[in-house]
Amino acid sequence: MTTPDHTSDIVIVGAGPVGLFAVFEAGMLKMRCHVVDALDMVGGQCAALYPEKPIYDIPGFTRIDGQSLVEKLVEQAAPFAPVYHLGQLVTALSPGEDGGWRVGTSKGVTIQAQAIIVAAGCGAFGPNRPPLDGLGDYEGAGDPGRGVFYMVGRREDFRGRRVVIAGGGDSAVDWAVSLAEVVESVAVVHRRPRFRAAPDTVERLHKLAADGALELVIPYQLDHLEGRDGRLEAVGVRDLDGGERRLPADALLCFFGLAMELGPIAEWGLALEQKHIVVDPATAATSAPGIFAIGDITTYPGKLKLILTGFSEAAMAAHAIHPLVFPDEALHFEYSTNTGVTGF
Ligand code: FAD
Repeated sequence: MTTPDHTSDIVIVGAGPVGLFAVFEAGMLKMRCHVVDALDMVGGQCAALYPEKPIYDIPGFTRIDGQSLVEKLVEQAAPFAPVYHLGQLVTALSPGEDGGWRVGTSKGVTIQAQAIIVAAGCGAFGPNRPPLDGLGDYEGAGDPGRGVFYMVGRREDFRGRRVVIAGGGDSAVDWAVSLAEVVESVAVVHRRPRFRAAPDTVERLHKLAADGALELVIPYQLDHLEGRDGRLEAVGVRDLDGGERRLPADALLCFFGLAMELGPIAEWGLALEQKHIVVDPATAATSAPGIFAIGDITTYPGKLKLILTGFSEAAMAAHAIHPLVFPDEALHFEYSTNTGVTGF
């Protein structure tokens, strides 16, 4: 076996809110972490899907938006000097030479650790893409000048643009209401007359439509894209009776949900249940010794897919991993008020 590029106490797969908090919990028990994420930024769903949306159920914060929570978590983890490997998928997992595990990433980086924490959320999540000819020509994640998007990083990127939003769930309705304040025009294309979103937001959507601040194009479906050189000019839509419309647009935002793809994780031999990793809720241990899982990726009776639940799982995983990293040391449970945050 070749020498790994890095060694660590723990490798955390996924830098979402739960993976980030696991760095802190591990650090408080003097364990070092390397964190790998497929995205080129930390924060998982909070940063990628709803950076500007307020979250109301993080203990101690009456409201905090997704990106601010991520920044606080990064700051909280910083004293423990985590090493981030971003923009790369953990593809390979194999037993390490002297016990523990070795992971390999899509960029060829190898890391050996005593324990693995899988905090991979929805897995290597990707948007459900509409089956439109030439779609790829208009996609360009991170480039606000491109035409087709599956998430909104910054609302300001769409200021003054003509936007078509496709979908009928929370994301479509939320962003239609929010973007209506800054864009030149917004049309919401949905194949059903009813929206599946928070009732008060749907009410605001209909009010904005009645006031002429946005247009509801229902019941229509996306049909084709028009434009050139990756620049979108219009979105063609069609109803069930074959009626067609052409919606002039600079940007199409598709909100058809996320595809839950475990990706390589499905090949690691862990016990799974409906694309989630089965864990012991007392320890976050998976079916493989030394591999733990926390956050949205896990399942056990009564599991709630909430950030605060994931935080608790991170603490339990760190305590369960301690004897693997320090087999000769007894772990005495201590409050952070007693230990302080000494960092590395
Ligand atoms: P994620 O945030 O999904 O992060 C997982 C990370 O793992 C991702 O960055 C992904 O790229 C990475 N990854 C996956 N597989 C690999 C791999 N093989 N290699 C490398 N990296 C990998 N929760 C609340 O508690 N309160 C709310 O109000 C709330 N509002 C929400 C609103 C919206 C619109 C959405 C979409 C979700 C909301 N949630 C809310 C849910 C919350 O965001 C999730 O519970 C939380 O993000 C889960 O955190 P996580 O760290 O487990 O996973």
